[in-house]
Amino acid sequence: MLPGKVGTGFPIRKHGNETNSPVWHPFTQHGLNEPIPLVSRAEGALLHCADGTTLIDAISSWWVITHGHCDPRIVNAIQAQAATLDQLIFAGYTHEPAEDVARGLIRLTQATLPSPDPLAHVFFSDSGSTAVEVALKMALGYWHNIGAARHKIIVMEHSYHGDTIGAMSVGARGVFNRAYAPLLFDVETIPYPAAGREQATLDTLEGLCTAPEKPAALIVEPLILGAGGMLVYAADMLRGIAEICATHDVLFIADEVMTGWGRTGTVFACEQAGVTPDILCAAKGLTGGSIPLAATLARSKIFEAHRSEDRATMFYHSSSFTANPIACAAAAANIAIWENEDVRGRVAALGADMAAQLDRLAAHPALENPRQLGTITAIDMRVNEKAGYLSDIAPQLRAFCLERGVLLRPLGNTIYAMPPYCTSADQIGTIFDAIAEAADRLGA
Ligand SMILES: *Cc1c(COP(=O)(O)O)cnc(C)c1O
Repeated sequence: MLPGKVGTGFPIRKHGNETNSPVWHPFTQHGLNEPIPLVSRAEGALLHCADGTTLIDAISSWWVITHGHCDPRIVNAIQAQAATLDQLIFAGYTHEPAEDVARGLIRLTQATLPSPDPLAHVFFSDSGSTAVEVALKMALGYWHNIGAARHKIIVMEHSYHGDTIGAMSVGARGVFNRAYAPLLFDVETIPYPAAGREQATLDTLEGLCTAPEKPAALIVEPLILGAGGMLVYAADMLRGIAEICATHDVLFIADEVMTGWGRTGTVFACEQAGVTPDILCAAKGLTGGSIPLAATLARSKIFEAHRSEDRATMFYHSSSFTANPIACAAAAANIAIWENEDVRGRVAALGADMAAQLDRLAAHPALENPRQLGTITAIDMRVNEKAGYLSDIAPQLRAFCLERGVLLRPLGNTIYAMPPYCTSADQIGTIFDAIAEAADRLGA
């Protein structure tokens, strides 16, 4: 590490002391003793730390908060529901909040992803990973129940679909899952359609779909691969991929866990490609990011393949908290916000503020590859060596921005911002000032 760079030259503000904590944090190397701020309160785009400092939540608390922290409409819905019906077994029983959310999701997807054969059924679970597991099980159950031997899954290079074993299996392999590799199932991979390399993606997919062993499904993050480095690709490509799947009767699964709820500028990213998936996964912003809930939506034929008088073909999946009423009340409040307010206008305004700021960074000699999709902006730090997720640059950038009151969490040398939709132009300015300063200080 060079003298004067983060980690040597300047003090790290202490937010909390983890020394005596029994908490084991996710994606955290406890051996490095990096500061772990203690956050006591949040409001809008701001996190209030126990030491009296505030942070701008520039990545929406890991891509989940959409309207803002502690949105009063969502808080009220949670409070009212918690005092009315807190939890209910969802096998054989139902409740109004779940019915509301299911109807709302079907309304919203039929309005934004219109199709003669629209998404028609909603299965609830608890996280993006479980929404993906459910999608994969639905796809395999579909082929099994209609008597076809199809179980191959096609994935896109650099994808991320979650951290459970099935979700890891359909995601990129790397340092994150090396220890578990023996347990992961085999998949077929199409290349990421980088600009200029689109035809290779379509040709590979065509080849896989016409191979003797017919694939069951393709799963893809529409328009932008999130954890893979905020890699964007064209809506035309998404449409091309969906069309090849449809031609060969391969189920098309859209993992909208990150891209859903306005992130990419539209409610769902598939809208920009005019694509209606066979199966759609939603989580993260489904409750405005307030409380865990996920939903996997399916076309009728998938539901119908499981419906019969034979108990052996029912969908064998549940979790204790399937469609938890409090979480559903939060999701219903979120859907009402989308249906009754100009959220699209807010998303567009935020996108414009970010575009102007990104333009300013684009000329920085230490930065390259500026890109934006809706409320997601990303730019890469030029690095000479050790690029990739474990490069030292990410924790240095993170610490540097934390010092400046901005919560960012770069993916390797990719710095991205994905703030809540209530973030003000001033706050956006502060976020990009921190990135520019980090580039000045840490740039090669
Ligand atoms: C975050 C994410 C997941 C996993 O969601 P969890 O709620 O963290 O399990 C799945 N797919 C995509 C595209 C994601 O970004």
